[in-house]
Amino acid sequence: MHIDEVRTIAVVGAGNMGHQIATLCAIQGFRTFCTDVSADALARAEAFVGGYLPGRVAKRKLSPEAARQAFDNLRFTPSLAEAVGEADYVIEAAVEVLELKRGIFTQLDSLAPPHAVLATNSSSIVSSRIADATRRPEKVVNLHFFNPALVMKLVEVVQGPHVAEDTAQVSMDLCLRLDKTPVRLRKEVEGFLLNRIFFAIFHEAEWLLESGVASVEDIDKACVFGAGHPMGPFRLMDLTGIDLAYTLAMEKFRRTGRREDLPPPSVVEHYVRGEFGRKTGKGWYDYGD
Ligand code: NAD
Repeated sequence: MHIDEVRTIAVVGAGNMGHQIATLCAIQGFRTFCTDVSADALARAEAFVGGYLPGRVAKRKLSPEAARQAFDNLRFTPSLAEAVGEADYVIEAAVEVLELKRGIFTQLDSLAPPHAVLATNSSSIVSSRIADATRRPEKVVNLHFFNPALVMKLVEVVQGPHVAEDTAQVSMDLCLRLDKTPVRLRKEVEGFLLNRIFFAIFHEAEWLLESGVASVEDIDKACVFGAGHPMGPFRLMDLTGIDLAYTLAMEKFRRTGRREDLPPPSVVEHYVRGEFGRKTGKGWYDYGD
């Protein structure tokens, strides 16, 4: 499929990532559907768009006409069938649970047009673990956005051995149309590209914290003022979600059985207290109300 044939995009999951990916697609001119099993998530996503687009107009980042067009392009629906029925490209951004994603992809395969690419935004699950839940494995690919998806330029396109060249290429081209900077991984690898680098930093940061060497604040300061990172590892984890850090580590532990892959005790403590970071008002830092 050529990128010019991609007109309609469906985003499955309207959470942290999904609602921003859908908004981005609509702003960049694609007819976009966004669906979720949670009515609350859909309502929150719709409310976000209602505030975000006028805000961009007020800041003169978007013309009133472009904002109106984006509103018209974007439709939220609880129906998966409606969302993907005419999609040329589907981006799944549901929770990070393998069996759940496999179930979604089986449904997508029967509901989306046969030519549609089915991409997953998973942070850790390579598409070869999902592709065989469909009858179109060559069209199942990782399209990994970063948080917040409306802001972060990078997208990783991961080309597993089952992915057709055409699928990888249209995915790269789609990222360019979304005004992103895509990178192509020619092999599937645990953690993809940037997260492998981040995991190494998190691992070291947590060791420094738990060994009593330095505080959360000082470790973050070192990364910001010494390495020029826009935020330190703990602040970043608060943004992406401590629940996600926990889930990713547990997934890895289940796969490897290695004790060193378990989430560190400080992450487990926050997780069991329901302190997931910004979204719950408290994580490594306190965000008040
Ligand atoms: P989230 O929990 O904020 O949102 C997930 C949404 O999926 C929820 O609204 C939930 O109701 C919905 N959902 C659950 N089952 C569904 C189903 N069967 N059909 C449709 N929707 C369903 O999670 P998130 O942080 O947005 O992460 C979503 C995906 O994006 C995950 O695979 C994650 O690994 C990946 N990701 C997350 C980040 C991040 O920083 N949070 C970054 C890159 C990629």
